[in-house]
Amino acid sequence: MTTVAFIGLGEMGSRMALNLHAAGFKLRVWNRDRAKTQDAASKGAEVCESAAVAAKGAAFVVSMVADDNATREVILGANGVLAGAAPGTIIIDSSTNTPAMSREAAKAAAAQGCIYLDSPVSGSLAQAQGRELVFMVGGEQAAFERSQALYAAMGKLARRMGDSGAGATVKLMNNMLTGTFIAALAEVAQVAESSGVDRDAALEILAEGATGCRTMKVKLPKMFKRDFAPQFQLALMEKDLRYFLALASEMDRPAPIASLVRSQYQAGRLAQLGKLDSCAVFLQAAGEKPSI
Ligand code: NAP
Repeated sequence: MTTVAFIGLGEMGSRMALNLHAAGFKLRVWNRDRAKTQDAASKGAEVCESAAVAAKGAAFVVSMVADDNATREVILGANGVLAGAAPGTIIIDSSTNTPAMSREAAKAAAAQGCIYLDSPVSGSLAQAQGRELVFMVGGEQAAFERSQALYAAMGKLARRMGDSGAGATVKLMNNMLTGTFIAALAEVAQVAESSGVDRDAALEILAEGATGCRTMKVKLPKMFKRDFAPQFQLALMEKDLRYFLALASEMDRPAPIASLVRSQYQAGRLAQLGKLDSCAVFLQAAGEKPSI
């Protein structure tokens, strides 16, 4: 039985870890807030004292934490994965990080004979639960091939995009588009409500049009229902737009749209909407206050 250390049992990570367990991997788990390990423990996962301890003796490590700072701590920190991982360990990092962070982690991993694959995902909680995530991967081809059983246990597609940082780059492109689309949907939803058109009929027709997509079908009804229960937190969306802007700046490319959209999510976070779903940008669009 292959042992996998799973680091970060948040909303996404908890679901991905359970799918690895269901596929027959032996799980060793660590989460900063230990309370979130209870579900995995009840299914037989071994709860560890640190990411380093979890990584000890594991053939693979999967990490799913918030951002660059969290990744620096759980991979490179004193009690992080690299403090415990044996040479040859493959680290699959599905957190949405900057390409620069991915390259830094890959370099540190290589220095001790481990392999780091930036492997962010598209898809949200429903896709994480239903093994329908899409992985975009940066790093060594051979390690990518050896990781196929893990990707298959957690998702429906894994594609290597290039060297370290390439997966992170494509993920930031993806979320620049998603974040922009949700911010645009928020304005459309505000106008729809104010105009008095039948919202269900409008949604049905818009969903059949050229811009009809999963994001529209999920987020527009949430806005209309004022259901801001988090699937993907607004603060995390702001982080992804911030990372996209940093990347565009590194490449000396203009990104006025990303800058504008990031400001909208930033204002939402500053208005205490950060822990709500990203579609709470709807409230920001009209200066509304959440009722929850
Ligand atoms: P989440 O529920 O807030 O989980 C965040 C995880 O990161 C938790 O396990 C948290 O630990 C851990 N963490 C944060 N800061 C840490 C630190 N300094 N040290 C150690 N652990 C730390 O968020 P999520 O929705 O699962 O998202 C996780 C990642 O997936 C993010 O990079 C996000 O951008 C990306 N993502 C999310 C979605 C989505 O739809 N939700 C989709 C695609 C990608 P604690 O429990 O102790 O706080």
